Amino acid sequence: MIVGVEEEKGILSISFRLEESDLPKPTEKFQIGQRGCKFHLPRGVNKEEIHPDHLALVIVMLCSPFCKGRIRLPGGISRRFFESTKIFSRFDVEPDHFSVEPYQPPDSAKLALSFSGGVDSTAALALMPENTVCVFLDRPIRGKSLYDKDAQYHICEELIGMGREVLMIDSDLEYIRDPVGFPVDVANSAPAVLISQRMGFNSIAFGTILESAYGIGHERYREYSLGRHFRTWGGLFSGAGIPLNLVVAGISEVGTSKINVSHNFGSLSQSCIRGKRMSPCLNCWKCFRKILLDKVIRDEEIENSLLDELFEIKEARHFLRSFPIKHENILTWITSRYAGNHKLMLELKHRVRGDKMTLEWLEYWNPESANLIHETCRESVIENIIREIGCMDEEMLEEMKNWDMGEMLNSEHYSSIHQDFIDSIS
Ligand SMILES: [Zn+2]
Repeated sequence: MIVGVEEEKGILSISFRLEESDLPKPTEKFQIGQRGCKFHLPRGVNKEEIHPDHLALVIVMLCSPFCKGRIRLPGGISRRFFESTKIFSRFDVEPDHFSVEPYQPPDSAKLALSFSGGVDSTAALALMPENTVCVFLDRPIRGKSLYDKDAQYHICEELIGMGREVLMIDSDLEYIRDPVGFPVDVANSAPAVLISQRMGFNSIAFGTILESAYGIGHERYREYSLGRHFRTWGGLFSGAGIPLNLVVAGISEVGTSKINVSHNFGSLSQSCIRGKRMSPCLNCWKCFRKILLDKVIRDEEIENSLLDELFEIKEARHFLRSFPIKHENILTWITSRYAGNHKLMLELKHRVRGDKMTLEWLEYWNPESANLIHETCRESVIENIIREIGCMDEEMLEEMKNWDMGEMLNSEHYSSIHQDFIDSIS
């Protein structure tokens, strides 16, 4: 992969030229789309103010899935950052030179949050110090799309109104992938990474939650800090002098929703990216889950008419047909607290084992995630977490670590329950 970088009038353009050995279609799921992208840098920021290691980190996030052999950079990087790229076995990073000083945050460094306006990153913001800078990736909408930015813009404006520092950076980086999406999950932080030197950031926070970090939304528990994702991206961000700051990695979706329900700007957050502000589309999988989750957290009755409506959502029915269901743990938590008589809801409860377990530990913080929180805010963030939701005890920790859906997935009993449920919702 040969990479070009240009800047004109505050617009930074990164371009990719594939070489023979590269992988235009690395998996069945996606292929390379447009061969580059643009960033509209904040007023007054130009290419010279972007640290070369930060630019290189962005390049690696954007093109690494499609690279084999090498990534040829247009400029130099530091030795320290170069060392961190050795984790990749499929390609080498080839800079022009190594005469770059590694990035050192200033004494007056600030915390950055890669902010999406959703429930998880809003909960992260609620837990972080007030001078945290939110960096919002403003994604252009092209052609027919269900994506609606109204709710996201609204929360950014509200936060600015509350005196928070929010930077909105326009970039079409998701179009590098076809179908459109982030080439790697951490790529949503590219705008924050690019302005790190100019802003004096000492770390980049994400809204990564327990389900993603520790495998709870998946088949079984894994220790995140020993896994491939953290070794790769944790290493690269540290190499660039802006380590990952995973403030909600020890909190499940139940916990982040609880924090939002109790926190003063939590009511602004919206996970649905299709509806207008304060009126989610009521027609997507996220709406299905979040509406039920919030109802239970607020201790409100779930009416049969609402359930009728929710089970009519086509996208929800599609997700509910999977075995296991994506974020099945959340549905277990919700249904175990459901005491009504709606037929499909009761069948779902049976299917996701809400009749067998309550997963109470999803309401509390996993203290083993403390080492994923940046040292400069660790103490205050933990204090806030303990105040908002509390900490898992030994027994809960044990239950979390035993999370494993393998037995259920392999049992004939649950296969037939699954089949019956599919028939019911079809
Ligand atoms: Zn929705």
